[in-house]
Amino acid sequence: MGKESEAVDDPTLLNFNYWSRRILLFYLFIVMLSVTGEVLAWVITRTIHDGTQMQFFVKIIVRPTLMQLTVIGLTYAIILVIRRSLAIYALVLCGIGITMALTLTMPNVHGLELALLLPMAVSLIFFRLGVLMFSFVASLFCYMLAYVFLPVYRDRVLQYESMAYTALLCAGYIIYYAVLQREVEVMGSLRKAIDTEQELDKLARTDSLTGLYNHRTFQEELDRLVAQGNRGEGEVQLAIVDIDHFKRINDNYGHHAGDAILRRVARAIAESVTASEFVARYGGEEFAILFSGKTMEEAFRLMEHMRVTIGRLRHPEMEGRTATISGGLQALRPGVGKAAFFAQADALLYEAKRGGRNRIEASSASAAAGR
Ligand code: GH3
Ligand code: MG
Ligand code: MG
Repeated sequence: MGKESEAVDDPTLLNFNYWSRRILLFYLFIVMLSVTGEVLAWVITRTIHDGTQMQFFVKIIVRPTLMQLTVIGLTYAIILVIRRSLAIYALVLCGIGITMALTLTMPNVHGLELALLLPMAVSLIFFRLGVLMFSFVASLFCYMLAYVFLPVYRDRVLQYESMAYTALLCAGYIIYYAVLQREVEVMGSLRKAIDTEQELDKLARTDSLTGLYNHRTFQEELDRLVAQGNRGEGEVQLAIVDIDHFKRINDNYGHHAGDAILRRVARAIAESVTASEFVARYGGEEFAILFSGKTMEEAFRLMEHMRVTIGRLRHPEMEGRTATISGGLQALRPGVGKAAFFAQADALLYEAKRGGRNRIEASSASAAAGR
């Protein structure tokens, strides 16, 4: 999976580059803050204990700072190449590394251990409970490791103190967990609202009986394609289709049977054309099909195929009898407006009805001759 598609699939990875850079800049800020503090301490220490300042300068300021900057730089390089969902963990580890370096280089400054709460907050930025759990466990682990294996550190920390830090890390975890749960809850309700809006939009655009596009959507598409055709961007054709003697079907078999046949014919119309055609229920037992990117011959062939296919459908609601359609197929001529275009197609449909039904009348003589 590409890194870009990762962001599309998962909204929590939105603007990942920006946010990961911000987190690294924040780490940098912490490092600079500690350098400032250390320099101040150095200035004071130098005046008090003359002679140890160079050692202090290198051990407490230069070495750890260089290490921290290297960790930030390395993390930046790593997150550029690995998957974003993994890069979040790298950001957490980077933060833990920096705060542990702070704690260990200045063991006399009590309470720096609590800076471990900062990388835990990375999980809040990316809405990830898993990352919170990971950063909590990793922080505790690193802290315990330092406590157990570094006597230099352990000797300067009171037992009560380290218990208090552990307890505060746990409390931080609990608070962050609640915040994250709340984030996930709010995000879920936003997602639901978006889904509902999309559903409503779909309902507003489709016809409930047949599932095809409705009259309003057809008008919008017709507008769009007429404008496109008149700009010379490819051929456009419009077909209007009407079920023959549908009133009789209703009268003889009932409206319920009529509805079922309407649905079946609608499906057959949609299945008779390709995915690039636009099929709508214009109203009643009339349908409209918009062709774009097809020649008139291709459109006519599809319409003929549709007519023959539908004419062969046997409807159980009519004791296995068949129903037929008639249609008018009109090519958009240069400079013709939407209303005239529709009227031309409608006139062809009327001609097909007059000509005996179960036929397609087309505007182009060459296409009509092909049938
Ligand atoms: P023609 O071959 O000339 O088109 O004859 P027709 O009977 O199909 O045409 P007409 O316009 O006289 O009748 C159309 C009928 O379609 C009338 C109406 O009751 C019926 N109709 C329109 N919408 C629906 C619908 O949603 N369900 C059902 N069952 N019937 C519908
Ligand atoms: Mg009819
Ligand atoms: Mg009709």
